[in-house]
Amino acid sequence: MEYHQNGFRPGDPAISPAADISDACTDKVDVLIIGCGPAGLTLAAQLSAFADINTRIVDQKPGPLSVGQADGIACRSVEMFAAFGFAHQVVHEAYQVNEVAFWRPNNDGKLARSNRIADVEPDLSEMPHVILNQARVHDFYLDLMANGPRRLVPDYNRQLLSVTRGDGDHPVTARFARLDSGTEEVVHARYLVGCDGARSTVRSSMGLSLKGASARQLWGVMDILAVTDFPDIRLKAAIQSAEAGSLLIIPREGGYMVRFYIELDALRDGERAADRGVTQEMLIDKARAILAPHTLNVREVAWWSAYEIGQRLCDRFDDTDEDPRIFIAGDACHTHSPKAGQGMNVSMADAFNLGWKLASVLRDQSAPSLLSTYGTERHAVARELIDFDRDMARLFSERGKDKAAADRFQAYFARHARFTAGVETSYSASQIVGRGAAQHHATGLQVGKRFHSAPVIRLADAKPMQLGHALKADGLWRIIAFAGRDDAGEPGKPMHAFCAAYDRSGLSDAVALLAVFQAGHRTMDPMRLHPALIPPKGALDLTDFHRVFCVDPAADIYAMRGINRDHGVLLIIRPDQHVAEVLDLSDLNGVSGFFAKVFV
Ligand code: FAD
Repeated sequence: MEYHQNGFRPGDPAISPAADISDACTDKVDVLIIGCGPAGLTLAAQLSAFADINTRIVDQKPGPLSVGQADGIACRSVEMFAAFGFAHQVVHEAYQVNEVAFWRPNNDGKLARSNRIADVEPDLSEMPHVILNQARVHDFYLDLMANGPRRLVPDYNRQLLSVTRGDGDHPVTARFARLDSGTEEVVHARYLVGCDGARSTVRSSMGLSLKGASARQLWGVMDILAVTDFPDIRLKAAIQSAEAGSLLIIPREGGYMVRFYIELDALRDGERAADRGVTQEMLIDKARAILAPHTLNVREVAWWSAYEIGQRLCDRFDDTDEDPRIFIAGDACHTHSPKAGQGMNVSMADAFNLGWKLASVLRDQSAPSLLSTYGTERHAVARELIDFDRDMARLFSERGKDKAAADRFQAYFARHARFTAGVETSYSASQIVGRGAAQHHATGLQVGKRFHSAPVIRLADAKPMQLGHALKADGLWRIIAFAGRDDAGEPGKPMHAFCAAYDRSGLSDAVALLAVFQAGHRTMDPMRLHPALIPPKGALDLTDFHRVFCVDPAADIYAMRGINRDHGVLLIIRPDQHVAEVLDLSDLNGVSGFFAKVFV
């Protein structure tokens, strides 16, 4: 963590100095976020980093969530939490999913373990796949926002009634019912983002709807504290019984609680989950039948619910092609079955994609056309998710007595582990994603995908760390320059020439430069580097020593990520950590040409 750059300040460094917002309006804001779910809070947390952006976030609930639905947190989401600075807290509290067991009837018809595989393939991410109550994730975001320069806290008890778009500086008008006082409140915003869940009022105000069919399959879910002789109760386990249906076991944080997703009956046409009168006793009985002959003694049900599976998608995620002002994110745009564990993750990723773009436009760094890339990029991801979820749900429900069906499910599950880990998302070429002109010099860092971290050693303080953890959620673009062979940054070498060009380009306010060298960290002198790599920082012009890294001989980033040792390579990284372009280290025109499309 970096602090004291503006002078010594005692106390908790996670609490930013408070900005003077005494003249900030609450009824005229830059960004109005509807909904304090994972999508809304990710967006608010991202925007709360900017003292000059007036953000408000509201929810109809009376206060923060205490019991959440989602609990599966993909590796990619934990990487994103690292950028926000609270990944270590999540990992500390969470259950870590390491292996998955598959159970189905054996030749005698008796339930038996058929396979046990790694949940996450090696080097898929430096972060684990974890399970933690959604409400705890909310807490971490809320802390981050409250500690930001504007001390952002949600306004609860406000139920959105309608959204309209007009003209002027704050063209979006939102009307709320105050559930605490019974009055009405009107807020005008430059931009409004509906993170208001599957029944989104923002979406309906935009005249949009979720489209797609329901699979008409009823499922139950319960978080329980139980005693059983089923041996894989602390493993993620997919169980397909001969006649009683299917069950997915997800062990929960804390070491004792466990979540059961239980297959119930198919719904008839027009029937809703609520019409079936499901009770927690029904879920327990069903789980016992699926697990038989194993015992299940439920001591406490912490939470349970019944729901139907459906895969639905909205046609668009913004209000217009030109100058969009109203957006939707998360479940407001797409819904799917919870078993694929994607809803919270994809919702947060939607917001992470949008947050920096809004900040960039509001701070006059980029043209409003940047905002149109949000809908294009995230709609494609949602489409893929919906297709995946439909296949997964169908395969899961196929009866376990059919060996071929069980094998198909396992093979599909293993193949799509990368997808569920969230690391397969790839954005297509656009004004903010290049075509990978020098992709052949970095074969393991694909343009469009998230920057795949690897270990490095920070030059100045010999700290072993993940390079990806230098990419913070601070709205900055970054260039990572990987030096070629025998290039230690001295004058006359390609790295020095690039640094000089970067220095002259005027990009340094919005684009931070990082460098990685092949030389050992004990052999290099940071003071001999180009000043662009050890720039002055903060109110006191202190030296920023956090931008230069050397190869970790125990885990060579060049080898791990297919980086050309002779030529080196240049990566342009977006503020949401996706690789925007891969260029030759000498391609200075490529860099300026790329950023000419990003910045005004
Ligand atoms: P939500 O979490 O639905 O939040 C929307 C917010 O908007 C709410 O706080 C709501 O009060 C507020 N709101 C709604 N309307 C208004 C209004 N008119 N005015 C003001 N406020 C309003 N996903 C995973 O990734 N992993 C899992 O393991 C997982 N398990 C799940 C288990 C179950 C049983 C269910 C039902 C879902 C599960 N999901 C899971 C899905 C996940 O919960 C959702 O995808 C995720 O919460 C969506 O986040 P969101 O921010 O888009 O919306």
